[in-house]
Amino acid sequence: MNRPLVAILSGAGISTDSGIPDYRGPKGLWRRDPEAEKLVTYDYYMADPEIRRRSWLMRRDSELWDARPNAAHLAIAELERSGVAVRVLTQNVDGLHQLAGVSARKVLELHGTSREVECTRCHARTPTAQALERVAGGEDDPPCRACGGILKTATVMFGQRLDPVVIGEAMGIAKACTLFIAVGSSLQVQPAASLAGLAAEHGARLVIVNAEPTPYDALAAEVIREPIGSALPELLQGLGG
Ligand code: ZN
Repeated sequence: MNRPLVAILSGAGISTDSGIPDYRGPKGLWRRDPEAEKLVTYDYYMADPEIRRRSWLMRRDSELWDARPNAAHLAIAELERSGVAVRVLTQNVDGLHQLAGVSARKVLELHGTSREVECTRCHARTPTAQALERVAGGEDDPPCRACGGILKTATVMFGQRLDPVVIGEAMGIAKACTLFIAVGSSLQVQPAASLAGLAAEHGARLVIVNAEPTPYDALAAEVIREPIGSALPELLQGLGG
């Protein structure tokens, strides 16, 4: 018998208690506002300096900078500290799992991170906070300091492919885990969502914690509709060493 491995797939619903709305989900803010969606669509972003200028203002004004991890993020960090083998697969780009204390190497960010910017030419990475300081200093579309290329947050924009290495690793975890908890995800965005099905197929116990029904509820051993901020800590306390 292998050592138990708990995989936690988190979506936007885990961060709403931290004040971060669902932007990119199927019913997210970006999908309902075509002008806003352009700001996070790769082809528009690369082609139009005005789109980039507005994107930098959106990043500057993001809820992210004031957001703190909530009880659900903290409960996952606590589970890791208790000695249980935990891996977090997150659809979120807010970095709140790491801020809560989960080891960075245990977190796979399926859609990248807003906390770093990446050069679209040389792929150099720097903290987003630094780029925002340049924006505050009057650069409305700060270029890469290494090569002059266009900078963007290190997130997967609409029209960009997910990192195949990250997806491969996530699939490996889904296949290997003994318990797969999907929390705050509508499980409608692929390929992240199909990880739940993959885990169940390979024998993991599937638990879904989400306010709304998901396409994977029928496969789940347990579906919890209670608020995430109380339901997840309660669920994870039962697992602790
Ligand atoms: Zn560069």
